[in-house]
Amino acid sequence: MERSLWTERLTKTSCPAWTCSICGKGFLSSYGETKFFLTAASNAANRVSDSKYNHEFIVTAWAKCSNRKCEQKFAILGSGHNEKEFPDNPDSTSDLYFTPKACHPMPDIISIPHNVPKPINELLKDSFKLFFIDTNSCAAKIRTSLEYLLDHFGIIRERTNSKGKSCELNLHARLAEYEKVEPNRASKLLAIKWLGNAGAHEHGNVNQDGLLDAYEIMENVLKDIFCPREPEITALANNLTNKYKP
Ligand SMILES: [Zn+2]
Repeated sequence: MERSLWTERLTKTSCPAWTCSICGKGFLSSYGETKFFLTAASNAANRVSDSKYNHEFIVTAWAKCSNRKCEQKFAILGSGHNEKEFPDNPDSTSDLYFTPKACHPMPDIISIPHNVPKPINELLKDSFKLFFIDTNSCAAKIRTSLEYLLDHFGIIRERTNSKGKSCELNLHARLAEYEKVEPNRASKLLAIKWLGNAGAHEHGNVNQDGLLDAYEIMENVLKDIFCPREPEITALANNLTNKYKP
C-alpha cells in the first residue's frame, strides 16, 4: 500500500496511480474531460468579491486503467479550489486542485491475497468504497472483517456459561481468546477494533489518516497469514545449500 496515493489531491490532468480493482495489474491515470463548477455559495460570494482563489468548485473527472487488456474507466467526484503554484507571487499561474469525494468503481486501497476467505475480501472491498464517502462507516466495515478473520483462526463465536446457557462472545472477548495463542498479532487487530468502535459511535470521529493506519496493519497481517514467505525462503536456502555446499 502506497499511503501517499490516498492523501494526494487531483488536478484537471492528473490522478494518483491507484491500482485498478478490476484487473489488479494496471494503474489509473487521468482520462477525458474534467468538469468543474463553482458551488452556489461561491457563485454568490463571487458577486461581491473579485478574488477567485478561495472559491469552491465541484468537480467530475475520469480516469482509465493503464493495462491495455483492461482499460476500465473510473468516474471520480470531488471538490476543490483554484490555487496559485507560487502563492506569494501575484503573477503565478493557478490550477484547480481537488479532493476525491467518491470513485466508481473504487480502486483497491490495499492488496488482498487471493486466498483470503470471501467474507473478509468482500467486507474490505466494501470498506474501500466508503473511504472517501463516510470514514466512520468505512471503519465499521473493517471492524466487521475482524470477526471473519477470527473465524478463520478458529476462535469461537459462542460459549456456554455456568448456567448452561449459550452466550455470544463480542469481538473484544474473541480477540482476548486469540491473544492467548497469538499475542503480538492480536494486539494489532485490537487497535483496528478500537478504530471500528470509534466509527460505530454515534458521533464517530474517524479520519482518513486513522483508516490508512488500519489498512496498513490489515495488509501486513493478511500477508503474514495468507502468503507467508518463510517456507519459500527456507526452500530457497535449502536449495542453495544443496547446490553449493562443498
Ligand atoms: Zn485494469
